[in-house]
Amino acid sequence: MSHFKEIQYNRPDASLWKQNFNNGLQLLKEATNEKDFTENFDNLNQLRVDFDARATICSIRHSIDTKDSFYENENLFFDETYPELQELIIDFQKTVLQSPFRTHLEKKLGKQYFIYAEESVKSFLPENVDELKEENKLSTRYNQIKAKAEIKYKDKIYNLSSIAELESSTDRETRKDSQELKWNFFETNAPDIEKIYGDLVGLRHKMAIKLGYKNYIELGYARMKRSDYNASMVATFRQQILEEVLPLCNELYQRQSKRLNIENMAYYDYSLMFLSGNPFPKGDESWMREKASQMYGELSKETDVFFQMMLTEGLMDLPSREGKMNGGYCTFIPGIQKPFIFSNFNNTSHDVTVLTHEAGHAFQCYQSRNLNYDCIWPTYEACEIHSMSMEFFTWPWMHLFFQEDTDKFLFEHLSAALLFLPYGCAVDEFQHEVYLHPEMSTEERNRIWRNIEKKYLPHRNYPAGSFLDKGGFWQKQSHIFSSPFYYIDYVLAQICAFQFWQRSKDSFPDAWTSYLHLCSLGGSASFLELVKEAGLDNPFEAGTVKKAMQPVIDFLKNIDDSKL
Ligand code: ZN
Repeated sequence: MSHFKEIQYNRPDASLWKQNFNNGLQLLKEATNEKDFTENFDNLNQLRVDFDARATICSIRHSIDTKDSFYENENLFFDETYPELQELIIDFQKTVLQSPFRTHLEKKLGKQYFIYAEESVKSFLPENVDELKEENKLSTRYNQIKAKAEIKYKDKIYNLSSIAELESSTDRETRKDSQELKWNFFETNAPDIEKIYGDLVGLRHKMAIKLGYKNYIELGYARMKRSDYNASMVATFRQQILEEVLPLCNELYQRQSKRLNIENMAYYDYSLMFLSGNPFPKGDESWMREKASQMYGELSKETDVFFQMMLTEGLMDLPSREGKMNGGYCTFIPGIQKPFIFSNFNNTSHDVTVLTHEAGHAFQCYQSRNLNYDCIWPTYEACEIHSMSMEFFTWPWMHLFFQEDTDKFLFEHLSAALLFLPYGCAVDEFQHEVYLHPEMSTEERNRIWRNIEKKYLPHRNYPAGSFLDKGGFWQKQSHIFSSPFYYIDYVLAQICAFQFWQRSKDSFPDAWTSYLHLCSLGGSASFLELVKEAGLDNPFEAGTVKKAMQPVIDFLKNIDDSKL
């Protein structure tokens, strides 16, 4: 392949596509033997690949520069067009599910393909197409509000990514001012953001009712293609976190307070881990690419091949820039069958974790790229095992990036992984409450968030009457808007990643072999089946959280953080 920048993009002709797909679908329905059926099945998937490839390239380019009006427009086209194609794709999946050649296809594709198809059939109704279009538009609008943030601090303009460097400054005033400015941005935009969310909740509830569900929760799970657990299992899992992890977090905050020499830490103090400053990578972006190249070169021959390809083919866009969408992601470009990594480097240690995290996703989908199109990725909780475990598999190379700060980084990384767990549960519980009571007003939603925050994050200390005190924090969490119920996935996966971390310390080659096997399975099995295949303990089972936490506790206890 040539460089990503050189890939030609042109808008697909939607009506021609529909016509071709319809014709193919007709042939599939009329197929009288296995050979014809398989051939038409492959042709239809090829049509999907062609369409999705262009949508993916467009979406990457739009996220790299949201100010580029060409791709902004193209992105709107896909937001509008995708829901219109959905009906045909569902018809295709129904045809496959009901086909007399299903057994033949099942032998070739495995049974998971059919589980995915069943979940998508369960979650679609042609009468919901307008709502789906509106849902896409609203998510895009939320992302654009955040991407266009311009926060002025001392004559310099920051965006929501680049401001993070100030937020963890060793100077308390800088931390306070920068975080106040950031939250002022959210407060100013709250009326728009809250309206977007209110509309999204209303739309989703309406779609669920039309499909015959009581509320959006069950539909949300079906859209996430979760086939082996339900909302009540998730609630029990959150309880495990509350019981086993929350006390540990409180201890960690006490240690932080001692390290920083601040008795009553304010909300803007948490992002500073060490009085001497947080660890940060000791070079610029191109230096980091070199270090990452050495790291993946030494880790395994598979990662070496993979990472060289990412570098030479321009499949990563790493630094933060004005107008760039927030956050980090990895996506897979169909057709060329290669991943793309997007991030917003901001000179913090997070640059390294985001790189190893997204590289974990990218490495996995590259390893499983030859599976059937619908089975390249598993469901999201399983995806996050690949990424979060990769963060740990790369620990032996962290000195390349952090040099004298390596111990600081390892302590910070592991603490952050642990401290994240209750936050992840809070975001999840909030969404269950919201979709259970779709009639709630914005004020009620904010109040519910604040109550949940007090339950899972009791240390958080906001000025009375402030935007955060009134429950505004959730408004910065994009998953709540664009991917409902995608958040507990990180918590489930972290419990699995801790197990890989421990195993990699016991025997790196054994743990890596198991990880490699997991990556190559891609989405060919369900979450719990994949967990089993990788030899991991099921996070839903009583006792798993406690067991997975023990080595983490031991490691953190044995570090004298007062010296860091
Ligand atoms: Zn991820």
